[in-house]
Amino acid sequence: MHNDLVAALDIGGTKIAGALVGGGGEILRRCRRPTPAREDGATVMAAVRAVLDDLAADAPLWERVIRLGIGSAGPVDASTGVVSPVNVPGWRDFPLVDEVGLAVGALPVVLVGDGVAMTAAEHWLGAARGRANALCMVVSTGVGGGLVLGGRLHPGPTGNAGHIGHISVDLDGDPCPCGSRGCVERIASGPNIARRALENGWRPGPEGDATAAAVARAARAGDPVASASFERAARALAAGIAATAALVEIETAVIGGGVAGAGEVLFAPLRRALSDYATLSFVRGLEVVPARMGADAGLVGAAAAAQAFSGAVGARPPASSV
Ligand SMILES: [Zn+2]
Repeated sequence: MHNDLVAALDIGGTKIAGALVGGGGEILRRCRRPTPAREDGATVMAAVRAVLDDLAADAPLWERVIRLGIGSAGPVDASTGVVSPVNVPGWRDFPLVDEVGLAVGALPVVLVGDGVAMTAAEHWLGAARGRANALCMVVSTGVGGGLVLGGRLHPGPTGNAGHIGHISVDLDGDPCPCGSRGCVERIASGPNIARRALENGWRPGPEGDATAAAVARAARAGDPVASASFERAARALAAGIAATAALVEIETAVIGGGVAGAGEVLFAPLRRALSDYATLSFVRGLEVVPARMGADAGLVGAAAAAQAFSGAVGARPPASSV
């Protein structure tokens, strides 16, 4: 019997997932609860504790856990262990690491943003594996991301580095909820793809599905307004990716999240647009690929980040990320 497992939490606006993750990224136990996102902070924390209790209920496995990683919707502040997820109003400057620490006793706890967690997973076992310099992105309800630089996860001082969703790519563009204008997220997130299609005359089918997935189906069927909305999203993503490549010389951009499920409806215009924006010799070879870790990226990545950043004695990053 080894002490070799990492407990992982993936905390978002709709669900709180937990897992016990083995040294090869395998998930040995998992559970999830809906996030009571409209309740007060203590109620949300009670749901987190319930997930931890579910994990600990398998005593022989729980005894093997050596640390705990948390990937949380942001903003987070990994330096202080505090989170203020936009979609969980009851948590503002909420001391998540301290609260989780009370629940798990002596286990070291590592917090990162959900974009950084996804990046850790893709770098460890997914589409950025073996890449020394990569930008990994989640394009769904929002747009998040993280960076691998020089072969290592680069979370930045507060755990938010690579947050490409709030790079401005349209100087005089629409106001973004973050306070800026013309952000990548304001153009390329799923709700914004759907909003723009509706504003330009696209109408959902009789089933009433007005999500970005429905817009993608319409685009695939040849609807020009639906295609144009994805084209615009692709250009925003390409401009953000090209800017990142020029700044830090990434070789790969990995794109996951629900909107990436549109497949070539998104990736074909994205690759075309990238050739418009990524023009300098050192960024021209940049590749754009779909993410591979799917819905478990947050959990596996939280475990990988805990391994990489735990200050505990004997802590070692996963072999593939050093
Ligand atoms: Zn913004």
